[in-house]
This record gives sequence, structure tokens and C-alpha cells, in this order.
Amino acid sequence: MPVLVVATGNPGKLQEMQAYLQDLPWELQLKPPELDIEETGTTFLENAALKASQVAKALNQWAIADDSGLAVEALNGAPGLYSARYGTTDQERIERLLTELGNNPNRRAKFICAVAIAKPDGTIAAQVQGDCPGEILPELRGAGGFGYDPIFYVPEYQQTFAEMSAALKHNVSHRGQAFALLLPRLATLPD
Ligand code: IMP
Repeated sequence: MPVLVVATGNPGKLQEMQAYLQDLPWELQLKPPELDIEETGTTFLENAALKASQVAKALNQWAIADDSGLAVEALNGAPGLYSARYGTTDQERIERLLTELGNNPNRRAKFICAVAIAKPDGTIAAQVQGDCPGEILPELRGAGGFGYDPIFYVPEYQQTFAEMSAALKHNVSHRGQAFALLLPRLATLPD
């Protein structure tokens, strides 16, 4: 079975990515924690490709990486690419976002997820992007998920990501949308 290195150090993202990949004929391996790639790209796709490519080359293995974040319309797309760097803990990041949004009646937002797969020589074999529209709640709801999940409400399901079962979030999330595009392509790799 070919090895696929999952290039993320975020435990919440790692758990979700492993769930999408678990039934595929690849042996999943975790990225060594000391291998840290700086996110210098200007788009989610660029950063996903950068991470997958650098990790693949460093280990001489196939690698998969995602770059994701939350874009809030009334904040001109912030925190966007800087979602992870918006604070030092999930609580700090959520508090900052809620403070900056204040009582703004426009609560529209979307989660975005780019995923890239790189060959052992670092060239990109596949890349996709998915998103999930929703709204920012004024306070936290639910105890599941990670990151901004407790304030991200999906009107169609009347639940925040943190209230959804793992299976529902798996299907409706930005990551779910990206993997729905990616999995058929992954089935044709590495040949
Ligand atoms: P990065 O992709 O490593 O740059 O990190 C993206 C950041 O966006 C994470 O650290 C989370 O704060 C946030 N994020 C990405 N996906 C999700 C999600 O599914 N739920 C909640 N927060 C997320």
C-alpha cells in the first residue's frame, strides 16, 4: 500500500482528514511534528500546495495538506488566511472575532478549505477547494468540533458546526465539500 503523509499539526483537522481518507488503499502516516512549513502563500490553494509539496519533498513520500479558514463578509473576509493566527487559543480567536463584528447585523460568513496532494518529488498531483456558507452567532453554541465551530451556524440544519454530529459536519463542511471533489481523483492515484 502506498504511503500518504497527512501534513497537518492541528489535531482537529487531522481527525477530520483521517475520517475522509480511512477507507482508501493508502497507508496514512502523520507528519513529524518538527517538520513545520511556513504559510507564505496568498491564497488557501497556494498554502495547501506549499505545505503538501514541502512535506512530500522532505520525506520523499506522497503528502496531503489542507489550508482552511473562516471568511466573514462584514470584516472584508477576515480572519481568512489568518484564521489560525488570529489569536493564540480557540477562545481568544473567537472572542476577537465577536468583538470585531460587534452588533453588525450582517453575520454572513463562509468556511473555505483547499486541499492539495503532492507526489514524492513535490509536484502537485491534485488540488481542490470547497466552501460552506453560514452565519456568525453572537455567542457560542455546542461542544463538538474545534476552532470557530461553536459560533458558526448553518441555517439549513439550524445547528452550529459544534452542535452537529461528526458525521453531519463531515458531509456539510467546507472540508466535506473539498473531499467530495478530491476523493474520486485520489482513487486514480498513484498510478
Ligand atoms: P490552517 O489551515 O492551519 O491555516 O488553520 C486554519 C484555522 O482555521 C484553524 O486553526 C481553525 O482556527 C480554523 N478552521 C479551519 N477549519 C475549521 C473547522 O472545520 N472548524 C473550525 N475552525 C476551523
